[in-house]
Amino acid sequence: MAREPSGEEMLQAVEAHVARRGITTRLTSPGTADLTWQSLLDFRIVRSIETRGERPMREPGSRGDIAGRPTYTDIRAYRVDPPADPERSGSRLLVRRGTLDEVLCGDCHGGTNECKACEGRGRRDCPRFVDCAACDGGPDACWECEGTGRPRTRRSTASRHPHATATATTGERAARATCTRCRVPDVACPKCRGRRQLDCPACKKAGFVECEVCTGTKRVTHQECQGTGRFTVWTEGFVDHTPHHDKERQLGRLDLRRATGNVGDWRETVLRNATDKLPDDLEDVHRQLVTPRLAVHKGEVARRATLRHLPLAVVRVHADPHRDYYAFASRTGIEVASRPTRERVRHVATITAAAAAVVALVVVLVVAMLR
Ligand SMILES: [Zn+2]
Ligand SMILES: [Zn+2]
Ligand SMILES: [Zn+2]
Ligand SMILES: [Zn+2]
Ligand SMILES: [Zn+2]
Repeated sequence: MAREPSGEEMLQAVEAHVARRGITTRLTSPGTADLTWQSLLDFRIVRSIETRGERPMREPGSRGDIAGRPTYTDIRAYRVDPPADPERSGSRLLVRRGTLDEVLCGDCHGGTNECKACEGRGRRDCPRFVDCAACDGGPDACWECEGTGRPRTRRSTASRHPHATATATTGERAARATCTRCRVPDVACPKCRGRRQLDCPACKKAGFVECEVCTGTKRVTHQECQGTGRFTVWTEGFVDHTPHHDKERQLGRLDLRRATGNVGDWRETVLRNATDKLPDDLEDVHRQLVTPRLAVHKGEVARRATLRHLPLAVVRVHADPHRDYYAFASRTGIEVASRPTRERVRHVATITAAAAAVVALVVVLVVAMLR
């Protein structure tokens, strides 16, 4: 509807609606119906809140890009336009005039330091030999000489090795090797051949390996300055814009919300300035709810408030006292919805409870009579 319907037009719409339920009465005549306005409200506001400040900056290397940033002398006086859309957040980074400088790193020499892991040697000590994994570097290395090179027969002690006795199987004997120490065949560990130890695979008997921390270069990159040996320092000024949302909604019961949501001809007003006025036809109760939410916030530089309201007439028809009728404007005319009154819903619940009590009593009486 192009304009807001009057109370009389709302009553006429309800009259036509109840007529279809068989109730014929002139609702515009005095004493036939009561009309109260309980309009619906959907108010949202988004503000752009600005914060400004300064902070000391220190970044590794030569930051040539910092010199390209805009400069200022007083961050409070620097002019930044508020965002066209208050919903958008943004951050402007500035450099205070005369603060941009480059300083040498005091904790390294040209971006590197001596490697602590190898104390600047570039290599680490490593044993030339390692114990044989097959015989654990022990006496099992050779059943004849135990890896000493002196055969058992020339030693005073008897063999401690059960494998060396005549009961040993030929299969086990075949797996043994000739000892490189005592030269006896088929008695030595096949891996170390009686030597107990093997050449170290890591250093290949050299006695040292390359330091894995500095890969042999003796120096390591200084992480703090990222190996540049210098820092760029400046005072950064910032101007941030952050959206802040608020709302106030009076949308009635869920069934009413569904009925009015798409069909209702909501009146929409958009306010972009703190001085913009609320619409004249806004109900006082809604005006009281919305007004405090329009106050200017600290740091506010832009706003967009959207106020939607839908006039809603609640009609009590005296000839049909158990239902509430709701009339509201739609794009094509006036829509009417109805539901039982609260009192009616309570009354039905009471009757149902009373009926249940009567049934219970009857059951008790019948059981008593049957005894
Ligand atoms: Zn450094
Ligand atoms: Zn041996
Ligand atoms: Zn071995
Ligand atoms: Zn080694
Ligand atoms: Zn090193």
